[in-house]
This record gives sequence, C-alpha cells and structure tokens, in this order.
Amino acid sequence: RIIMGVESSCDETGVGLVRLHDDGTVELLADEVASSVDQHARFGGVVPEVASRAHLEAMVPTVRRAFDAANLTLSDVDAIAVTAGPGLAGALLVGVSAAKAYAAALDVPLYGVNHLAGHIAVDTLQHGPLPTPSLALLVSGGHTQLLRIDDIAGKITEIGSTVDDAAGEAYDKVARVLELPYPGGPPIDKAAKEGNPKAIAFPRGMTGPRDPAFDFSFSGLKTAVARWVEGAQARGEDIPVADVAASFQEAVADVLTAKAVRAATESGIGTLVISGGVAANSRLSALAAQRCAEAGIELRVPRPRLCTDNGAMIAALGAHLVAAGVAPSPLDLSADPALPVSTVCV
Ligand code: ATP
Ligand code: MG
Ligand code: FE
Repeated sequence: RIIMGVESSCDETGVGLVRLHDDGTVELLADEVASSVDQHARFGGVVPEVASRAHLEAMVPTVRRAFDAANLTLSDVDAIAVTAGPGLAGALLVGVSAAKAYAAALDVPLYGVNHLAGHIAVDTLQHGPLPTPSLALLVSGGHTQLLRIDDIAGKITEIGSTVDDAAGEAYDKVARVLELPYPGGPPIDKAAKEGNPKAIAFPRGMTGPRDPAFDFSFSGLKTAVARWVEGAQARGEDIPVADVAASFQEAVADVLTAKAVRAATESGIGTLVISGGVAANSRLSALAAQRCAEAGIELRVPRPRLCTDNGAMIAALGAHLVAAGVAPSPLDLSADPALPVSTVCV
C-alpha cells in the first residue's frame, strides 16, 4: 500500500511517499521538501504569516514533485497522513486543508498525526522496525523531550522535557550572538569542528543533585554564552568563534546524552533513538555513540536529511497507523497547535 505524508507545521512544506509492505516494513519512495527558511533568515526566526503563505504556494508543486520522483500518480495512493500538530496554527491549516481535499477527492482514509511522533517514526525508514520499548530523545527547534515508545502507532509517554528553551532554539540564539546565520545549528556545528570544546566551561543546566533527573534547561547556557561574548567584546578582544561554538556544543551534547543514557539504563530499555533537527548535530551523535556503546545500548540516529522536517516522516508514521489498523481521523479534523505527544493520531 502507498501512503502519502504531508507536513507543514513550521517552515518546511514536505510531501513524502512510502510503501507499506505486507511484512510491516516501510519503504521510502519520495521525500520532497520546499523550505521558506531563506525568507525568515533576516528575522532570525520563523515569521508565521510568511510561513503560511509559502506553504500555500509550495503545496501543490511539492505534491507533484513527490509523485514524479516516485513515478506514481495520485490514483496509486491508499491513505494520506498529515501533520495535525503541534506547530504554527496557520501553517498547519494549509497542510490539513490540502490533505483533506486530496483524501476526499481520492476517497482514501485520512490520518491527522503528531509531528513529534513523526520525527521518531522516520527512523524506521532507515533502520527498520523499532524495538519496543525504545527510548527516544527528541531534539528539535521547538522541543526537547525524552520519550518512552511502547508503540509508535499509539503509546508514547513523556519521561522528561525542557523547562525553558529547546535545544535547537539555544543553537539558533547562540548563533545570533556569534553573528552566524539562521538557522544556527549547521553553522555552529561547522565552526565547532575547528574549535576546542574544553576552551570555556559553560554550565550544564539541570544537572544539580536536586534537579529532576530527566528534565532539561538551556536558557542558562544561552545566557552564559551571551555574557561571555559580551565580556570579551567589552575588553576589546576578538571573539574566538570556533572555541565558543565548540564549548557550547559540548555542553549541549554532554547533558542530552548523559540524561538519555541514564533514562534508558534506569528503565532497562536497550534502544535509544535520537531524532529531530538537532539530531543532525555531529558532536551529539558522536558522543551518544560513545556513551551508548559504554552502556550497552543500541543507538539509532536517522541521517540528517530525515532528522529535519519533511513529509516522509509523516508518511512513515501514517504507514505504521495503517499497519496497526488504527481508525482514520474524521474528515472534519482540525489542526491543534498544542497537540500533546501522547496523541499520536487525532
Ligand atoms: P519542532 O519539530 O519542535 O516543531 P522544528 O520542526 O522547527 O521544531 P526541526 O526542523 O526538527 O525543528 O529542527 C530545526 C532545528 O534543528 C533548528 O533549531 C536548527 O538550528 C537545528 N539544527 C539543524 N541542524 C543542526 C545541527 N547540525 N546541529 C545542531 N542543530 C541543528
Ligand atoms: Mg524548519
Ligand atoms: Fe520538527
């Protein structure tokens, strides 16, 4: 069966096509993304109105490109999945409206799905079925969470989350302080390769003896970086961008991997999946690989292209819902900007 996935929760218009095989494996056929990131760059963050308009313009052409790439036609589609939330209300509505129209016209079931669950489901396209239970570290522009996955098609439980900024948000804000382009993850990752991660001892938030074991905090780290840079500027010194980037990146990767490995170990879970845009970070995956190997935990990190927003992740999640026999969503479903991660399908 062929499942189409539509993503429009933020600034990427994504359309993915996958094939669900009888044995339950899901094969990637097409993954087309149109991003409005360049239009937001000068504002240093996503402008909701601009994103909605860009989705409107990109949606149909992106659908066409996906079918061309897969050498399929709309009539081949057996089910449609669309991001119902969380995300920007206006942006989500464009995808939901388009998916409803396609579902009604093609007379196929429609699944309104959770974007965050999609970030995890995408891993099955690369590494095959997810063992259960698995632990997921979801690190993206808007979220930083530790999740227990008992069933990707239905049972996801939050174990911990950030109490302030998301990891990706910290990357974007620190990039601004260092006068690197938006989004900040890729340029910081690149700059850090030339720097010394031990140059500056930035704070590891939420790691005190009385702090919750599985929650995160990145706003103190972001402020510490800004203070450090201001201090150097006030003394008239050149900013050692590579060292600041490497030291900041080390603090983020250290806390994320330490808590994820501890959560897996304490709950006796043998598999850790790291996903979301920040999972594309080279130091995060390297440190996670090292610490998981030491702890005897299997690590799964999708390739960078699958970590950031795309339609294939939504199609993959849709395929798992179809395989599990989950009831489709009503055709009058609506977008929910604050959809909780425990709701995999609305
Ligand atoms: P959410 O999924 O929470 O709704 P989002 O969809 O905007 O948020 P993603 O597209 O999953 O988030 O990820 C975008 C974030 O990933 C940005 O903050 C970006 O800076 C960060 N990012 C991308 N590549 C890297 C990298 N190599 N290192 C660190 N961060 C990265
Ligand atoms: Mg994005
Ligand atoms: Fe995302």
